[in-house]
Formats: sequence, C-alpha cells, structure tokens
Amino acid sequence: MDAMQTEQRYTSGCYPKREITIVRGEGARLWDDAGREYIDCVSGHGVAIVGHCNPAVVEAVCNQAQTLITCPEVFYNDVRAQFLERLVSIAPPGLERALLVNSGAEAVEGALKFARLSTGRAGIIATMRSFHGRTMGALSTTWEPNYRKPFEPLLPGVTHVPYGNLDALHEALGADTAALIVEVVQGEGGVNIGESTYLQQAQGLCHAAGALLIVDEVQTGFGRTGRMFACEHHDLRPDLMAVAKGIAGGVPMGAVLIGERVESIRPGVHGTTFGGNPLACAAGLAAIDYMLEHDLPGQAQRKGAWVLERLGAIDARVIREIRGLGLMIGIELRARVTPYLKALMDEGVLALPAGRTVLRLLPPLVISEDELATVCDAIERVLTAG
Ligand SMILES: *Cc1c(COP(=O)(O)O)cnc(C)c1O
Repeated sequence: MDAMQTEQRYTSGCYPKREITIVRGEGARLWDDAGREYIDCVSGHGVAIVGHCNPAVVEAVCNQAQTLITCPEVFYNDVRAQFLERLVSIAPPGLERALLVNSGAEAVEGALKFARLSTGRAGIIATMRSFHGRTMGALSTTWEPNYRKPFEPLLPGVTHVPYGNLDALHEALGADTAALIVEVVQGEGGVNIGESTYLQQAQGLCHAAGALLIVDEVQTGFGRTGRMFACEHHDLRPDLMAVAKGIAGGVPMGAVLIGERVESIRPGVHGTTFGGNPLACAAGLAAIDYMLEHDLPGQAQRKGAWVLERLGAIDARVIREIRGLGLMIGIELRARVTPYLKALMDEGVLALPAGRTVLRLLPPLVISEDELATVCDAIERVLTAG
C-alpha cells in the first residue's frame, strides 16, 4: 500500500484530504512522492514562516536533539531561559512573561484560564467569525457553528458580538466579563482586517469595564502581517496574547504572553508536560533569530503590497473583493472556493480556503518574488478560466 492508502486505512477521518502525498520541503517549495514540485501558500496553515527546513532551525533541532530533548518546567533549563528572554524581547510592550505550551488552542486555553483567575470573573466575549481553536475552551470562543454544534454544551458565559461593532461590545461588557478575545485580522473567518479605531476603542472599553484584552495572534504573529505582531499596526497593549503557528519554524509550540495587569498566577495553577521543552525552545530561538536577522516582517510587508497590487489587476468576474495585510491575503469569490483550490493545485500552487468563498494565501515569508509572480499568474489563469 502507498502512503495515501495506508493513511486512509488508519487515520481518524477528522480531516478533509487533498489527493497528494507531500514528502519533502525547502523554503517555499514542497515535493510530492512522484517528485512533482509545488509552491506552497499553505505553509502548514501559516506555520512555515521561515520556510520549510530552514537551515538555521534544522541545525538547532539536530544539535538540541543530541543534547537534551525533554525537561519539564519544574527544572530550569539553559535553552528555555534564552528562548523566553528572546520571545519577550520581541513582544508588544507590557507583555513581560510567558507560559510555553504546544499549540494555538492550548495558548488560547491558557489565556482564558489566566483571565478568569486574574479577574475572578467568568464571562468571555468573543467575536463573530472568530477562530480560536478546537479544544473545548477555545472552541467555546470560536464562532463557526459547524465546529461548535456537535460538541455542545460548551463553556458557559461566552458571548459572541459582531466583529467591528463597538456598540455591541459595549452592551455585552458587564461586571462579570473577564475578557474580550479578538484577532487583529480574522484568519479562518475570511481574512477580515480589524480597523484601528475598533481595536483601540475595544481595548479602552475592556479596561473601563475591568476586563482584560486577549489578542489571538496565533495566525498573525511573527511577521505574517508585515509587523512582528499585528498588534503593532494599532499600538495595542493586550493583557494576554496567544501565539503559536510560526513560533518555532514548524516544531509544535505555542505561548501565552502575559501582561502586568494579569494577577494571581502562582505555582500549581496551570501547566503542561511538554511545555517549554528544550527541543521546541531551540527551534523557536533559531526561528526568531532568523526572522530578526532577515527582517521577515519587512519582507512580508513589501511582498504583500506587491501581491495585492498584482492581484488587483486581475479582471475576473468571480472576484468579489481582495483583502490583505502583509502576506496574509484573502480573495473573496462569488463562488465556492474548493474547485479553484483544486485547479491551483493542478497548476502547482497550494493555497487555503477561509470559509466557503475565500481563497487564502499564507506563504512562507521567505518566498521569492519570482515564486510570488508564478503564484499570481496561476491565480489569474484559474480565476479567469471558463
Ligand atoms: C490556528 C489558529 C488557532 C488554533 O491553533 P492550533 O495550533 O490549531 O490549536 C487559534 N487561533 C487562531 C487565530 C488560529 O489561526
């Protein structure tokens, strides 16, 4: 049996699958088991920010694997110490500590728990079309009813308000609100870009109500939107920030960054076995250093602006709107996106959906201008065909 048949036989069945078997990657390129090459605008759902098999990350992982792979947080560790210092050094101002975890959902879980712990309140406000992950707490704050419904009852005390609507937020905020959780750009929800006034005033409303602001930068973090964190576009000062995806060059890792208004975190209140393991920390340290050395946020900003201009020149009736910030780009179609993703794959370009009608691009930030031109040409052919 080949890999496809073996997976079909033994996999859980949770995932819609595409009919290719990926076996190798380098930079923004992937290869399948037949040796066919693809330009990757999926990046493992936005993970491969520094490119596939980034040499600096590979070297750090190899070295650390020969030194120490696991070490729980009850002991101190040299690489973890360095990683924490580096992570906090690039975080938005006011975020001065971090809990290290293993995924985006787990980072969101941590942020929700810390918000409840710190405020002594139970209520959480989230936004419509949000995505915060699939574990029970994170899922409670995720909007998409198809993801939520089969698992109800979820966490009590969660309300969803329209993204961008300050009146609705004002109305929802009460004496029992622990926090608002919000994305600066909604990723899975369709690449919906938050406005400065909305986000800044939302922060002000939270503080006035004694609630905390949790910003979910799991998808927008680490240069994706043209700044190291999307918060920086709007001078936001979140109390808690969830990050993951690109944090460690593809090695599973997440973190909750913790601000000075968060109280009551004492030994024993929360934890996770794999959190802060030296292997992930070594990968994370190498990935962040690479982002800084190569100014990946700046690259994302320049390349993203070029892509938006190029895509804007496509004359295709099927395009409803093009939205983007840095290299987080959504093309909203007047049709379902799935057939177009399939056609792009046949052209050697891998892209993502965001909801039913948005074609989403999350390429590695190291993607070359030539590769981006090839991607845009393929998109033009596919959207103007037939
Ligand atoms: C992907 C994502 C998550 C969930 O991360 P996982 O690692 O899949 O658990 C949470 N929030 C946002 C904004 C995401 O894009």
